[in-house]
Amino acid sequence: MKIGFIGLGIMGKPMSKNLLKAGYEVVVYDVVKASVDDLVATGAKEAATPKEVAQQAEVIITMLPNSPHVKAVVLGENGVIEGAKKGAIVVDMSSIAPLVSREVAQKLLEKDIEMLDAPVSGGEPKAIDGTISVMVGGKKEVFDKCYPVLKAMAGSVVHTGDIGAGNITKLANQIIVALNIAAVSEALVLASKAGVEPELVYQAIRGGLAGSTVLDAKAPMMMDRNFDPGFRINLHIKDLNNVLETSHEVGVPLPLTSAVMEMMQSLKVDGMGQDDHSSLVRYYEKLAKVEVKR
Ligand code: NAD
Repeated sequence: MKIGFIGLGIMGKPMSKNLLKAGYEVVVYDVVKASVDDLVATGAKEAATPKEVAQQAEVIITMLPNSPHVKAVVLGENGVIEGAKKGAIVVDMSSIAPLVSREVAQKLLEKDIEMLDAPVSGGEPKAIDGTISVMVGGKKEVFDKCYPVLKAMAGSVVHTGDIGAGNITKLANQIIVALNIAAVSEALVLASKAGVEPELVYQAIRGGLAGSTVLDAKAPMMMDRNFDPGFRINLHIKDLNNVLETSHEVGVPLPLTSAVMEMMQSLKVDGMGQDDHSSLVRYYEKLAKVEVKR
């Protein structure tokens, strides 16, 4: 099966490399030429536009920043919709607004092209070792066809409902991650200012109820002062925008998510938008005038 892959950033690059490792033929496109060259050196074929990718592939995967990029790449000039054959499947693995997933899927369906929304969680290390979690919306029979392709990049692949359900699941995921990082930040800043070493606090609590994947991934980054992304503050702001827009539309107030969103906005104003979301600790450090370190 020939796979198209568009969007070779922090996540898309290792994900497409895992498809090559699994033996799939992969044709790639990105606006950044250096990323395309890297994939070509690993065995992928290069295409000049998203349309050209779609002309050559049965399954076309997109891994782009947000809704406008997906709309442009799939529906825009020289987009996937102009090149895809009848019966082809677009699998959008970007985290975007669920309503946009539905809108794009509807436009594709008018041309007999199927679509799944299949955002991921896990970050760059899990994308590299092929253990990301994929949450998928769309028709069950289309999901079943794409399952082996998705499994070649992932540890878990779960069908959560019709088109849009993948991104609704991802919004739930992003609420839990954002609030969890804020809680870890708040706790480690308190420990530091109260004179207890954060490393010892981390070691003491990680096996108990307060332990979490977020604690294990982000507390060491905070203590090492390593804020290289990972997952950028700007991308998490994008996701929380989608969360708040969707929640208000369906009538769900989200008091904690709104608070963490404003913390992230403050970090962006302070020039940290490109840093990892573990930077949330620096919001609390500024308030408390203390630094969390080993
Ligand atoms: P990124 O910014 O590193 O990569 C995006 C890629 O898309 C870049 O290579 C960029 O050049 C390319 N691109 C942008 N516009 C394009 C266009 N018009 N045509 C072709 N290519 C285009 O972002 P990322 O971290 O890889 O994230 C991708 C998606 O996955 C986002 O929706 C993000 O929210 C989600 N995600 C990221 C992580 C993470 O830890 N980084 C984890 C889970 C989900």
